[in-house]
Amino acid sequence: MENLAKISIPELKIEFDLPFLRSFILDVNTLSNLSKSGIWVNYSNNSLPIENINFRAWKNWLLSEEYRTPHRLPFSARLPFHYHRIPTLFRVEFAKKLFYSNQRLEISGFGIDLLELLLKKIQPGQDKRFLMLTHDIDTEGGFSNIKQISNLELRFGFQSLWNYVPKKYLVNHEVLENLKLNGNEIGIHGIWHNNREAFLHKNILRREFRSLIPEMKKYDISAYRGPSWYRTKNCFDVLSEFFKYDLSCLDHDFICPGEPGGVFTSRPYKIRPNLIEIPCTIPFEAPLFYGVSPNKLLEFWIPKIDLITCTSGFLVVNTHPDKGYLSDSSVFKSYKELLDRLYKSNWKVMLPSKLEMDVKNARITIPTTY
Ligand SMILES: [Zn+2]
Repeated sequence: MENLAKISIPELKIEFDLPFLRSFILDVNTLSNLSKSGIWVNYSNNSLPIENINFRAWKNWLLSEEYRTPHRLPFSARLPFHYHRIPTLFRVEFAKKLFYSNQRLEISGFGIDLLELLLKKIQPGQDKRFLMLTHDIDTEGGFSNIKQISNLELRFGFQSLWNYVPKKYLVNHEVLENLKLNGNEIGIHGIWHNNREAFLHKNILRREFRSLIPEMKKYDISAYRGPSWYRTKNCFDVLSEFFKYDLSCLDHDFICPGEPGGVFTSRPYKIRPNLIEIPCTIPFEAPLFYGVSPNKLLEFWIPKIDLITCTSGFLVVNTHPDKGYLSDSSVFKSYKELLDRLYKSNWKVMLPSKLEMDVKNARITIPTTY
């Protein structure tokens, strides 16, 4: 694959293929120009010596995505009708032209983990490998495929988080109840999935979440993920009043139609005093938008899985049960191959509720950024 480069750190006896290395260098160079982060990086001799880092300031700056312009209310949210009413094929083609240039793939999200590895702040390749499987139910049609996906996961002993959109479609509560009975977790994926959620006035957003409290209680909901990965500071403020964890960020965000970005780590952290951010690291189906064939999806992600293994990171997979995603037999087959690989390499599922408990009981320490 053309975006792969070999990286070796003899000191730590590490050698692996790093996706998007070139842009990682560009990104860090950009950061090095900013005096506030105090970073100096020298890439001569193809090595990565790093000196004089104000590591904490730099890390917070990335984790809070201060380096990019904030997301703005998108065109899709300004339409007088729900943007999902535009036929999928047309929407996807339009989005591909507008947003999904291959350049986006070149922005790396591995900065913090790699630097921590280089600075020996983390130990490479630890035995405990944590995996989180998450799904966003974008459409009503998606409900009919959930049983098949969930049964597949259960065969590997995996349970997952299922996020639904409470005010967009007729919610199939029987399916959600069955998921809960099988030990899965339920979360919220926006309110209407019209991409306006992150941009609402705080009080309006509060009112909307308040109206959802009965069903949130019914399913013990503590998880939120914003539609199309839109996220704003206002939104995080309000989310922290209603949820325990948010999953709207990515380590390397090449998908959100807003500003590309990412939080440059595969590890959870506190984005608000009462809100844990769990960045998505494997948006499994996203490469389809860049022309990767459905049966090459696993192959596409293997280098990143290897990297996360190396940096003892957190594997957070996102998929959809909807048309064009896991309901497609070839995408489903690739997902099965992914699960098989993760199972055989000893990845253990951790549900977000377990992570939150472990953080609360100080069994896991995570950084803060506020
Ligand atoms: Zn969605």
